[in-house]
Amino acid sequence: MERVRFAPSPTGPLHIGGLRTALFNYLYARKNKGVFILRVEDTDQNRKVEGSEQYILDALKWCNIEADESPVCDAAHGPYRQSERKAIYQKYIRLLIEKGKAYYAFDSAEELNTARKKAEKESGGFKYNVHNRSQFKNSLVLKEDIVNEKVETENYVVRLKVEPDETVVTHDMVRGTVRVNTNELEDKILMKRDGMPTYHFANVVDDYLMEITTVIRGEEWLPSLPIHQLLYDAFEWDSPKFMHLPLILNPSGKGKLSKRDGDKNGFPVFPLAWDRNIGYREKGFLPEALLNYIAQLGWSMEEGEEIQLLNDMELSFDVNRLQKGGARFDFEKAKWVNKEHLAMLSAEVIIHDYAEFFTDYANVLDHQLINCVGLIKNRLEVLTDIHKEMKVFIEDPKTYDEKSMKRISKFNIKGIGAYLISMVEEDLENLKENISSKANELDLKMGNFLQVLRVAVVGSLSGPDLIPLIKLVGKDVTLRRLKRLMNS
Ligand code: GLU
Repeated sequence: MERVRFAPSPTGPLHIGGLRTALFNYLYARKNKGVFILRVEDTDQNRKVEGSEQYILDALKWCNIEADESPVCDAAHGPYRQSERKAIYQKYIRLLIEKGKAYYAFDSAEELNTARKKAEKESGGFKYNVHNRSQFKNSLVLKEDIVNEKVETENYVVRLKVEPDETVVTHDMVRGTVRVNTNELEDKILMKRDGMPTYHFANVVDDYLMEITTVIRGEEWLPSLPIHQLLYDAFEWDSPKFMHLPLILNPSGKGKLSKRDGDKNGFPVFPLAWDRNIGYREKGFLPEALLNYIAQLGWSMEEGEEIQLLNDMELSFDVNRLQKGGARFDFEKAKWVNKEHLAMLSAEVIIHDYAEFFTDYANVLDHQLINCVGLIKNRLEVLTDIHKEMKVFIEDPKTYDEKSMKRISKFNIKGIGAYLISMVEEDLENLKENISSKANELDLKMGNFLQVLRVAVVGSLSGPDLIPLIKLVGKDVTLRRLKRLMNS
């Protein structure tokens, strides 16, 4: 049975990179009929941001990515919030110390700072490890009775004892085998002065205790893998499989996608609004479309199979199609995916499920909202486009598009307009047929009539299907708009 976890730290809103990690974990679990766990890694009290755990839960809920086990869905491997697992970490840190794989260190922040500055000057970098640990105040150096006394009376950290001259071999499902010499590594802090574990320690202990079989996370954690492997080895535990997902790059392909890139280019980087930033939901994305797009950041889908619902992706997800290289974020493509998803929904469903976008239009054209939306829905890239597209039903064009005017000015607008007015007055139901026979009779193209009519009604040569649009706005409005064009 596969067990995977998404393990965010509540240090702010979920970024779409984090959402993609959650999604791939979820898909991997569903594809393998396994279990998807949400674990909140909140041991760093200084970085904790009020409201962000709730934000993560809300965002996953909006996306329909439900965890089988989580802080709000407790099960046998809980608690699922690391801050509630302190006693567990204490027990396992003692075990490591007893095994001689970890040690106490009593160095003060000032002492470490001085050593860091000195080392940076002399050799360019500082690492607390086998090469210099004998110069510090730790339980590998001090006498046992002094250590015992300090443990009782002072603050201390616990560090991993990394042995020299060994090769740590790690395996990643996307990147293959990576080898690192232990001389390159640091004796990482496992337990902090406040008695809280560090990310590395809590992460490994929890992955083991929660019986995680595959760790799927962002590439930024790949450098931590050798330390995690050493921890598994120290405990004599089998390590899970690892899959590090490629970075999401900004639209220029240079560097990791950041909130600043979103601000600069006018697109959200969060699924839901946070603070003063709007999210994909407020921008008018369907959650299934957002997931479908972000799945393509790192997963190369077959051509022609790029539009998939969550259920489809649960079946088609294929680890072998994950790419190593960074995935460039493309907001235009994201909007295209959203447009395709919107087009698959009926007007009724759109209005019902996304009612917040339609509050201003409930009474439009005597309760004809469904018909209006039916006519324009295939033109929407995002739901907020609704405001631009609904205008045609609500107000007469204030201005006419220049290019469109240039185009129709080749025709006899006044003449054609007069015919159109009488045809609209006579019989709106059969307008199209009547325009066709009138054009035939005059040996003119039907298109000339339709273009004049479109510019009169819409204000430009683009817009929704014309004849149904005219039937919706009705005779009076159409006549008024035709006359307005002729008098302009
Ligand atoms: N808490 C880490 C984060 O916020 C989790 C990394 C991991 O999945 O191991 O990304």
